[in-house]
This record gives sequence, C-alpha cells and structure tokens, in this order.
Amino acid sequence: MLYDMVIIGAGPSGMTAAIYAARRKIKFLILSMDIGGQMNWSSEVDNYPGIPDITGIEIVKKFNEHLKDYNIKVKNEEVLDIKQKGKILIVKTKKTTYETKTIIIGSGKKPKKLNISGEDNLLGKGVSYCATCDAPLYKDKIVAIIGAGNSGLEAALHLAQYAKKIYLIDSLEKIAGEPYLKDRVLQNKKISFIGGAKIKEIIGKQTVEALKYESKAEQTNLPVQGIFIETGLIAKVDFANLVKKNKWGEIMIFRSTKTHEENMTNIPGIFAAGDVTDIPSKQIVVAAGEGCKAALAAFDYINKFK
Ligand SMILES: Cc1cc2nc3c(=O)[nH]c(=O)nc-3n(C[C@H](O)[C@H](O)[C@H](O)COP(=O)(O)OP(=O)(O)OC[C@H]3O[C@@H](n4cnc5c(N)ncnc54)[C@H](O)[C@@H]3O)c2cc1C
Repeated sequence: MLYDMVIIGAGPSGMTAAIYAARRKIKFLILSMDIGGQMNWSSEVDNYPGIPDITGIEIVKKFNEHLKDYNIKVKNEEVLDIKQKGKILIVKTKKTTYETKTIIIGSGKKPKKLNISGEDNLLGKGVSYCATCDAPLYKDKIVAIIGAGNSGLEAALHLAQYAKKIYLIDSLEKIAGEPYLKDRVLQNKKISFIGGAKIKEIIGKQTVEALKYESKAEQTNLPVQGIFIETGLIAKVDFANLVKKNKWGEIMIFRSTKTHEENMTNIPGIFAAGDVTDIPSKQIVVAAGEGCKAALAAFDYINKFK
C-alpha cells in the first residue's frame, strides 16, 4: 500500500501535522516512540495560547484527546531509516517498512550525553535525563543536576519539591539562564550552586553513589543518590541520513514562496518541522505551527504527485 504521508514523531509538530492530515482525509500514518515528545518533560507550560498555566503532562493529554477526536492512532514504532526509490519514499521501522509519497519529520531533540564513565550503566539507576518524569523518586534524597541553563534551573526548582538537597553544577562560574528562574533558584535554601566544575565520573555499583568532579585542580567525590543531566539537546536525526543538515545537525528546510516547497528538505517529498529543523525558535507553539505549514505544503506536493 502506498501512503500519501508518513509522519515521524508525535510531539507538537507531528501531532499538528496529523490533525491536518486527518481533516484532509489523506492516507497517512503517524509513527513515534512516545506521545507528546519534549512536552512530557516540562513541569509548567505557561506560553501556549489559549491554555494558560498547564503542566506538560496535561497539555500532552489535550493534544492526544484532539487526535482521538479524529480517530488518529499513533503507531508506537521507532524509525530506523528513510530511503528513496524513484519518487516513492521508504520508511523503515523496527517492525516493518512503509511506502509513501511524502514524509514529515518531526523527530525533535534528545538530551546531549556527557559521555563519561557510569552514565550508561547507571541510567535508570540514579542517572536521569528527565527531572519532570523522575523527581518523585528522589523524595528526601540528595541529588545533583549537571547544567545550570534554563532546563537545569527548571529541574532544580521541580526537584526541590521532593529532594532534601540539590547541587546545581556547571562548568561556568555563574548561573546562566533567565533571570526570573535564576532568582527563584538562588532564593531556594535547598539548592546550592557549584560553578567551574569539570564532571569526571559517575560512581556507583548497583545505583548512583557519588559524582566525581574537578574544580580549581581539586577532585571531589560528592555523595548523591540521583544525577540529572541537563546539558542541552541535540536534533534526533540518526535515521535521516538522506537529508541535509546544518553544522548543529539540524535538518535544513526551505523557506519558499512556492507553497509546495515550504518546510521541504533537499529531498523532494520529505518535509520537516519543529525542533529537529534549523528554525531558530524551539517552542511548542512554533513546532505546532511548523507542523501545520509542513502538512499544508505536503498536501500541495501530493496533489502534484504523478
Ligand atoms: C524541560 C523542557 C521544558 C520546556 N518548556 C517549554 C515551555 O514551557 N514552553 C514551550 O513553548 N516550549 C517548551 N519546551 C520546548 C518544547 O517542548 C519543544 O520546542 C517542542 O516539544 C518541540 O516539538 P517537536 O514536535 O519539534 O519535537 P519533540 O517534542 O522533541 O517530539 C519529537 C517526537 O519524535 C519522536 N521520535 C524521535 N525520533 C524518532 C524515531 N526515530 N522514530 C519515531 N519517533 C521518533 C519522539 O518520540 C517524540 O514523540 C521545553 C523543552 C524542555 C526540554
């Protein structure tokens, strides 16, 4: 069977594209490893128009209810590769392959790893990339957050509701991030900032026991039970060798005056939207808007497809 469209990712960009595809009544699929993408990691979302003051988990529920209104079911499949066979595009997943006229890539971003000893083998055993998901597991425990940008600051404030002590650690001497968040962090007595630290190793046999870091030529083993890595995000493009990326690994898309080319990559029929692309603003409302633009452009492309 030849699909009109395969959407990769069920973050705000992919889910918006899916709503438009369902309304257009085209033959389409939405494949994803989860529902909601990064919105699941956000404790508070207060800048999505029309839905003030909502948690990440609740906004995901609202998006998902909207999909259900259109009878859209997200297929829980990881995409491994995309290929071209003439004008037909092939999407290979862990389970099967799909043939389609267009693809919309909305695969977003994934956390950057530290690539230090202990990070992989203690993942889920004290090491986490998601404070929103895992904070309740650290009630009355001592934790460290690595990275004091906005995500690290948000993580610290969220963890302060559970953990008894939080060390916020960064290689920079001073806390970066928005002043509003920074002030709240500095006022919180549970949170201590350690600047100018080079992270060396995560120590632990079965679970995390300590974090080794170096500061001013001195090594410290800081006893902690949890380590939250908040050092930024990178575009999730491991399956998308076919399309052109910029120096940060983000998929390059056209800003075209021709409707069928908007959001298109260098490969005709492959569109991309949201955080995975080279657009500068990474926000939910932007990703949703880009998903809409990509879908509309893809409809035009499908109409011209021979
Ligand atoms: C901690 C945190 C807080 C934030 N707070 C806010 C906020 O308050 N307001 C705001 O506007 N923005 C916020 N953001 C940013 C916002 O969440 C993102 O800009 C937005 O989610 C991007 O949407 P997206 O659809 O492009 O990608 P994502 O949300 O990253 O979704 C990508 C989707 O693709 C799927 N996927 C990835 N690879 C594959 C694959 N190979 N096969 C199948 N599926 C795949 C994933 O499972 C996921 O469903 C926050 C981000 C973080 C990390």
